Amino acid sequence: MVYNSEFVGRALVELGAKVNVPLSELVSFRVGGPAAFVLQPKGEAELCAALGICQAEHLPVVLLGNGTNVLPADEGFRGLILQLSGDGAAPVFQGDRVVAGAGYSLTALAKESVQRGFMGLERLCGIPGTLGGAVAMNAGAYGGEIKSVLRRVRCFRDGAFVWEDARLEQMGYRKSPYAWPSTIVAAVELQLLPDDGTAAATMAECMQKRREKQPLNLPSAGSTFKRPEGHFAGALIEGCGLKGFAMGGAQVSELHAGFIVNRGGATAGDIRALMNHVQAQVMSETGVLLEPEVKGLEALTCIF
Ligand SMILES: Cc1cc2nc3c(=O)[nH]c(=O)nc-3n(C[C@H](O)[C@H](O)[C@H](O)COP(=O)(O)OP(=O)(O)OC[C@H]3O[C@@H](n4cnc5c(N)ncnc54)[C@H](O)[C@@H]3O)c2cc1C
Repeated sequence: MVYNSEFVGRALVELGAKVNVPLSELVSFRVGGPAAFVLQPKGEAELCAALGICQAEHLPVVLLGNGTNVLPADEGFRGLILQLSGDGAAPVFQGDRVVAGAGYSLTALAKESVQRGFMGLERLCGIPGTLGGAVAMNAGAYGGEIKSVLRRVRCFRDGAFVWEDARLEQMGYRKSPYAWPSTIVAAVELQLLPDDGTAAATMAECMQKRREKQPLNLPSAGSTFKRPEGHFAGALIEGCGLKGFAMGGAQVSELHAGFIVNRGGATAGDIRALMNHVQAQVMSETGVLLEPEVKGLEALTCIF
């Protein structure tokens, strides 16, 4: 196995990588077997060094933020997980612009920007991902999306990190040209608006709706499926009588049928099986194809 190579193991551990880390500790579904290596790079140079090692050994790589939109496998992952989260690159505000590291929490930045008298992120407060993950997914909620404030992205192009103007025309509903493995987002620059006096109340209202309507007490990855044109995934699933339906430890949330939750002891296989069942049932009863919003780790695996 490539990952057993003495060179790659030693080199990654020297960079600070941890060995045999349960993926269940890295993703919000709290499922998944061990990852051979996990590294939280301390900066761009370290990230490039890690990529170089993986490239030399053809070791598979996956990039994660907070892992709040990802479903791993029970077998684990025989490669390197680069985890860009909890990064110390704190936001720097200058006028109406703010620059922050990709690993910084979207919710923390939303709160901070409202405290500083800005609006633009208040509807996104409560999304549990990183800024990098938000740009990669074009995260959005309650009529807001990261695209509307995104101005520049520091991303990996041809072996180096460069700032580029955001390709907004390529961003859409949960769609972005900045998602791994197309590129790696290291930092973002956002342009906020002066608060018109409603930001704090809007933020509080959105957070309240989340607390009331979402099963925040159980592990999940948020909405399991994208919103199909002209429909709501949750309503379609509920209409098929699947609210509360369970397979093993995975369950269609009793509170919000758009969420699959880990009600305790779920395997990744349980979640996948339930996703397939829900898709098949909704297709056969309504003719609507539910496209997963949650990304399988295997689809994110890249060998350079
Ligand atoms: C309770 C709950 C509520 C949620 N509510 C919402 C919501 O209202 N709206 C919404 O849009 N989403 C929601 N989500 C889903 C999720 O939080 C978002 O998609 C979030 O933007 C993912 O960020 P992350 O850092 O966790 O990314 P991850 O889940 O780690 O990764 C998601 C994707 O982004 C890529 N990626 C991550 N970081 C980078 C980077 N730095 N550079 C390039 N690619 C990267 C990954 O490779 C992967 O393809 C919710 C999830 C949960 C658990």
